[in-house]
Amino acid sequence: MQLIYYCDRCNNLVDELDVEEVDEEKLGLSILTADEKEDIIKKTDDKMEIGIICDECETKEDLVSLVNDNLVH
Ligand SMILES: [Zn+2]
Repeated sequence: MQLIYYCDRCNNLVDELDVEEVDEEKLGLSILTADEKEDIIKKTDDKMEIGIICDECETKEDLVSLVNDNLVH
């Protein structure tokens, strides 16, 4: 099974790996609800695409929330 992590915001490919079987626990997916999984995971027969937020977008979001915080206070 091919695992593909892509950024939900900018659609950049973040990481790609091959696994023999998908261990949701190991991948940190077991904490998600069924709805959330459906939302971020696209699964086909031989690959699984997982939408995450890349470092770049995360940094950008941090900056935005920082600015917003400063505006509020
Ligand atoms: Zn991104």
